[in-house]
Amino acid sequence: RNKGLVPNEIENREEGFWRLYKLSVPRIRTPGRTSSVASMLPQDAFTVLRKSFDARKLLKEPVFVYTVEMDVKVLLNLEPRAWISYLESEGLVNIIHGLRGDASVADSEDRDDIFLKQVNKLHSSKRPKVAVIGSGPAGLFASLVLAEFGAEVTLIERGQAVEQRGRDIGALVVRRILQSESNFCFGEGGAGTWSDGKLVTRIGRNNDSVQSVMKTLVHFGASPKILVDGKPHLGTDRLVPLVRNFRRHLQGLGVDVKFGTRLDELIVENGRVTGVCISDARFESEFRSQRLPYDAVVLAVGHSARDVYQMLHQNNVDLVPKDFAVGLRIEHPQALIDSIQYSALASEVCNGRGRVPVADYRVVKYVSEDGANTSGRELGHSCYSFCMCPGGQVVLTSTNPSEICINGMSFSRRASRWANAALVVTISSKDFVDLHHLGPLAGVEFQREYERRAAAMGGGNFVVPAQTVTDFLGNKLSVTSLPPSSYRMGVKASKLHELYPARITQALQSSLHMFDKELPGFISKDGLLHGVETRTSAPVQITRHADTFESTSLQGLYPIGEGAGYAGGIVSAAVDGMYCGFALAKTLDLFSGDV
Ligand code: FAD
Repeated sequence: RNKGLVPNEIENREEGFWRLYKLSVPRIRTPGRTSSVASMLPQDAFTVLRKSFDARKLLKEPVFVYTVEMDVKVLLNLEPRAWISYLESEGLVNIIHGLRGDASVADSEDRDDIFLKQVNKLHSSKRPKVAVIGSGPAGLFASLVLAEFGAEVTLIERGQAVEQRGRDIGALVVRRILQSESNFCFGEGGAGTWSDGKLVTRIGRNNDSVQSVMKTLVHFGASPKILVDGKPHLGTDRLVPLVRNFRRHLQGLGVDVKFGTRLDELIVENGRVTGVCISDARFESEFRSQRLPYDAVVLAVGHSARDVYQMLHQNNVDLVPKDFAVGLRIEHPQALIDSIQYSALASEVCNGRGRVPVADYRVVKYVSEDGANTSGRELGHSCYSFCMCPGGQVVLTSTNPSEICINGMSFSRRASRWANAALVVTISSKDFVDLHHLGPLAGVEFQREYERRAAAMGGGNFVVPAQTVTDFLGNKLSVTSLPPSSYRMGVKASKLHELYPARITQALQSSLHMFDKELPGFISKDGLLHGVETRTSAPVQITRHADTFESTSLQGLYPIGEGAGYAGGIVSAAVDGMYCGFALAKTLDLFSGDV
């Protein structure tokens, strides 16, 4: 309310180099000043903890009072003189003394010099500089390990922080506005933030690395139950605050987190990555490009960063095609799945509040070329349910408005009326021989092709093509009035049996019959198929050395996580990121232990 800080309004606590201040700041009303301050201060230096409206009569006029957490280190990284002039213009210059913990600095002393010395000391440290691209589980855990070992880490994320990302996802679902850089795939926390948050993994639930990841998640706010649950899961409502806590911890370790910032190019000199070209997605119209030098670049971009694959291919980085899976997402009423799995006990589920958990399923079958059930993968396609979301909803995971691909998410209680799961078939490069001229990126084009067909079938506006299970099995479209779907942007009755090549459709049809034998009632008039599920895993692998995690073709590049083809799912991506962190810390001489 007054110009400047009144000392007793400051409550500070010291954590190593850090001091966190809680202070009441004046509402900055003059339009000119607001913009100059906003342009000078990195938004991520401040986090609003609380906003209240103070309309007490003793004030001349009502004011908003913000309690903000100020990240001093981010501010220190600003060009020092600009910062000092900002502080002085705001009458906040005493904060410098607070920063230094030195209340005795005489007014006459040259404050600029004191401050500059401090900043220069910070900048002159010889810590290795590492850019981590992507803030999904792989990027977050790599950043954590590297920062703990003392590397100077910049975490570069094309999407927005969870607070803004939540608003962008809301605008997508409610107003059909797809932000190409901030959506269900891109943004803080990665693809799994708005997900079911299943923490099951095939890499061994009780091994030390998985347990370390789980304990870290508990440290950031997950329920300790995940350490003991047979099928641990979080749900979107728990993931979002967890990811925010993770970010704050990284910032506390000195990690510079840049949101809305996209990696566009690698800077390569003499066969080695020496930096990155980034652009700030907030200014796409002006395309503000920047070149930043780094000692190493960790690439944790997930499997939807098709532009990154293209860029790597153009830079002759080793990429090899990898098998992946495509199919449809099937949805049933949750009550039906509960009754299939629990029979009489189904009544105990009570919308996720009952004695027994909401029922799920996982089925894997092998289908031969002639559609028969076989015992060997080599004889045909492997068909399986994937990413099953009990009590969840079907969501749009497209990153481009001309493509449709879907997935599932849920909240922690899994209380919705629907159960959905991907029903997919493994495919390899022999399934798209006509695209082989595209080299290792043929699989990416295959995915894109069927995402475009799905968008066309849905008729646009993010409407998803759908078909009842019974019609899909009968190769017909008899029902135009579909059973209800959890997908919020609308479904359109479509001939999904004509969407994929016949061999994929036949494999899906055969697997449905097999699933029904295992889960009697799975083939039901209430079962609804949605198209398409294409991004189950990366269609390429960015090859790397097993011990160092470094790319086999480009020194200084460390491809990790799902996008690099070394993980599938939240936990395995996190574990991969963690191990890369150790390996790179060793390479950078920050750590001498065994990886
Ligand atoms: P991602 O999580 O994909 O993270 C990559 C990050 O890199 C993204 O944030 C992206 O914005 C960023 N990025 C990409 N390109 C650039 C660039 N050029 N510059 C800067 N940043 C860039 N897995 C489970 O285990 N359980 C589940 O319940 C589950 N449910 C899911 C539900 C949905 C809707 C989706 C989409 C996925 C789900 N998954 C689930 C899969 C899981 O999210 C992924 O396996 C996991 O997130 C992969 O982690 P990652 O760190 O390798 O990549």
